[in-house]
Amino acid sequence: MNLHEYQAKELLSRFGVPIQRGVLVEKKEDAEAAFAKLQAETGTKWCVVKAQIHAGGRGKGGGVKLAKNLDDVKTHVNNILGMMLKTPQTPGGMEGPGKLVRKVLMTEDVYYPNADGVMDTKEFYLSILTDRTKEANVIIYSTEGGMDIEKVAKETPELVHKEYVHPHVGFQAYQARKIAFNLGLSGDAYKSMVKFVTNIYNAYVSSDASLVEINPCLKTSDNKIVAADAKLSLDDNGLYRHPDLEVLNDEHEEDPTEVEAKNFGLNFVKLDGNVGCMVNGAGLAMATMDIIQLSGGKPANFLDVGGTADAQRVENAFRIILRDPNVDAILINVFGGIVRCERIAQGVVDAYKNIGNIHIPIVVRLQGNGAEVAKKLIDESGLDVHSAVTLQEAADLVNKVLTK
Ligand code: GDP
Ligand code: MN
Repeated sequence: MNLHEYQAKELLSRFGVPIQRGVLVEKKEDAEAAFAKLQAETGTKWCVVKAQIHAGGRGKGGGVKLAKNLDDVKTHVNNILGMMLKTPQTPGGMEGPGKLVRKVLMTEDVYYPNADGVMDTKEFYLSILTDRTKEANVIIYSTEGGMDIEKVAKETPELVHKEYVHPHVGFQAYQARKIAFNLGLSGDAYKSMVKFVTNIYNAYVSSDASLVEINPCLKTSDNKIVAADAKLSLDDNGLYRHPDLEVLNDEHEEDPTEVEAKNFGLNFVKLDGNVGCMVNGAGLAMATMDIIQLSGGKPANFLDVGGTADAQRVENAFRIILRDPNVDAILINVFGGIVRCERIAQGVVDAYKNIGNIHIPIVVRLQGNGAEVAKKLIDESGLDVHSAVTLQEAADLVNKVLTK
């Protein structure tokens, strides 16, 4: 599960990580009051208006703008709120449709000069993730922060450093000092960075995160270290331990059909082929997708109805698959282990009739408990539903009805 920048910053600040503070704005008419509130709370002169979508590279797409007065603030909020923001990371990239911006974060300006009027900021890169091959968390950091870390990693990989954390020993004080030193810091900035890294590592571990990325991690002109941007992904498997974080999920950022499937308790992933699949068990679903592909077809989705594939679940699954206009045929492959095949067969027939307007062919392969009775039920249903015995037969049949 991914968090928005404003949510990630809020979480990090609970762990003592200094952040660029901000006010969330959801309506254009709230811009003026939000700016006044931000100035009162932070003393900032200028502010930055930042689109809140789950994609990086917002700056490049025009989703991050500096405002130097109230007119600027209004203009930027008006332009960014409600825009379809295209960044190199939104679906389809800069050529794609972009993502609708529903919220903006209005933040204090942290790129201010020091007491002598001199600009002395430095943008660093810092991220933490789990390196599965090394079986350890790794802190990745660089002096070359800002907008183009991908380019830095590609062209000058020697400028990107890695610090591994021993899983039993944990993050050590000397590691924090080493990172601050390698970033070329001294004095107050050095001390701030030691604390910053330590706190951010605690936040990463305590929230069962799978990624935290701060880019830019800013050294301000007065030698503070602040998170000017924050990206945070949480491990879905750890979410049950964090009910307070689970509620931060933004369903607008997910595929609507996948959200609906999740609400039905179905495991669904949309793909770009034309054969809809309905299978019980993730392993069988993968095997089914493979054999469809090997027989010349293309799966339109992965759908695991789960071990207890009852009539209601079959009907829900039908509705989800039929949402996809690319689906030209459906292959149902269910193994009757706990469930009896004839109950599934009856479920398929009932769902077909309940839904009513199904005008694509369906191939059903039921194996296991009660398979023969089930096949008879399908064959005698009088519907555009065909039965198959082996998986290969089913895959061949679905490709055949497709080309008919
Ligand atoms: P991203 O493009 O999605 O990674 O969004 P960021 O939050 O990293 O913002 C993009 C860029 O905006 C940063 O690299 C900074 O150069 C700039 N920026 C962010 N915060 C401030 C700020 O407080 N003041 C100024 N002047 N620029 C900022
Ligand atoms: Mn950034």
